[in-house]
Amino acid sequence: MPTKKYIFVTGGVASSLGKGIISASLAKLLQSRGVSVTIQKLDPYINVDPGTLNPYEHGECYVTNDGAETDLDLGHYERFINLPTTQDNNITTGSVYQSVINKERKGDYLGKTVQVIPHITDEIKRRIRVLGTKQNFDFIITEMGGTVGDIESLPYIEAIRQLKWELGSGNVIVIHLTLVPFISASGELKTKPTQHSVKLLLENGIQPDILVLRTEKPLNSDIRKKVALFCNVDMTSVVESIDASTIYEVPLMMKKEKLDVTTLKKLHMPEGKEADLADWKKFVEKVKNPVKKIHIALVGKYVELPDSYKSITESIVHAGAVNDCKVSVTNIHSENVNEGNVDELLGDFSGIIVAPGFGTRGIEGKIAAVRYARENNIPFFGICLGLQCAVIEFARNVLGLTGANSREMDRRTPYPVIDLMEEQKDVIDKGGTMRLGAYDCNIAEKSRVFEIFKRKQIRERHRHRYEFNNQFMDEFDKAGMKASGMNPETGLVEIMEIPSHKWFIGVQFHPEYQSTVQKPHPLFVDFIKTALSEKK
Ligand code: GLN
Repeated sequence: MPTKKYIFVTGGVASSLGKGIISASLAKLLQSRGVSVTIQKLDPYINVDPGTLNPYEHGECYVTNDGAETDLDLGHYERFINLPTTQDNNITTGSVYQSVINKERKGDYLGKTVQVIPHITDEIKRRIRVLGTKQNFDFIITEMGGTVGDIESLPYIEAIRQLKWELGSGNVIVIHLTLVPFISASGELKTKPTQHSVKLLLENGIQPDILVLRTEKPLNSDIRKKVALFCNVDMTSVVESIDASTIYEVPLMMKKEKLDVTTLKKLHMPEGKEADLADWKKFVEKVKNPVKKIHIALVGKYVELPDSYKSITESIVHAGAVNDCKVSVTNIHSENVNEGNVDELLGDFSGIIVAPGFGTRGIEGKIAAVRYARENNIPFFGICLGLQCAVIEFARNVLGLTGANSREMDRRTPYPVIDLMEEQKDVIDKGGTMRLGAYDCNIAEKSRVFEIFKRKQIRERHRHRYEFNNQFMDEFDKAGMKASGMNPETGLVEIMEIPSHKWFIGVQFHPEYQSTVQKPHPLFVDFIKTALSEKK
């Protein structure tokens, strides 16, 4: 079996330069050349996973098929390469320490002093290699979270250095992404921060193989030469990453810069056939040159940080492209919405999405938004908590169940139309204890969702503790809100819809986690299509 090839992507100078997108773009390019590739993320924080993090801290928590709560970059990986990730694709310092400490408690270290080096670094190396051993990938791209120089990244950098030594430089390369700032007063691009950042890596024993320079202006050959000379790489290893109008353009830009070709060379691999990005290019054209435009409202409570709803906004981009349409998404803070101002706030939108979420803050605003969409026949899409709000709204305003609520918001509600799932009742720990990951959902044949999916069974990813309370099923059904998707084993409601409405669908699962460029999610596609036909 040929040796696996490991590509590490580190970052320097500043955070948020787009290591995730560079990693995903390179993966896309390699994949388009016919090799098998996966991407993983190393996160240096001490949380075991980001599931316990507030979205304000770290953006959306992404969920894999096997139920891991992970960093949002895994969402980018899946959207770019259209391959599911797993628990193994996200490694955190918390999870590394947890396994080392568990082993220590079991006595596995046979009386040795347990230390960062070698025990933590060995565990990091083992985790990095798990993906290559469990599944048969030729290339494993590993994105190193954080910025070089951070104290918490040190054990990871050391692990990478050791791997490079152990596996040989032809099997491991390091791509370092930095920023070349433009100083407008002098009209110059500056390479010094990059030089310093590479020095920091060198101090830790790593000579980067390729440098990707993020810049707002094109890099001329003098700048490239200067970076190459002072950072000790050849000219072809200096890659420009200029600001793009959409993240989906980055693979095309990286192809032009031959990032894939240089990577293959450094890894002593034959170049093979050129990366075929024809379909990808068509998609990017559609994103950049839409024929139509609509406005959609996204009602949520973490709207100050757009990353909180990353997968939803990207799913909308995919669905917009299918419909040749630019979808402008306005984030509406649910805490600001009430019965008195809802018309003013939401009246101009062609569709309303109510976002997932936890806790009572902003819940009444979401319910007011649902009511407005329902009563005014505006396409409505409720996701997870969004579905739960739709159920509460219907119970209160159509069924006349005053005080109806979710048990999450009101423990003493007389009508718990959304209640804690049976299996959640004894759960005390917060981390990793929700109903997580992919479950089957049977679709009712005479339903809107059947028309959309054209299938009797789907499988979607979940992240919730509460569920529709089936005791109220008949009442809802008679009044016109139907359960059109159910879990075949548990009878848990997965989808509710109002057939008499133009488009009113709520889902307990998260369709946004499965939408990719290659496979836009049918629910988003149909929602945008309907909203477009109702354009205001
Ligand atoms: N808070 C709700 C629950 O736990 C909804 C979760 C969500 O929107 N992801 O069931």
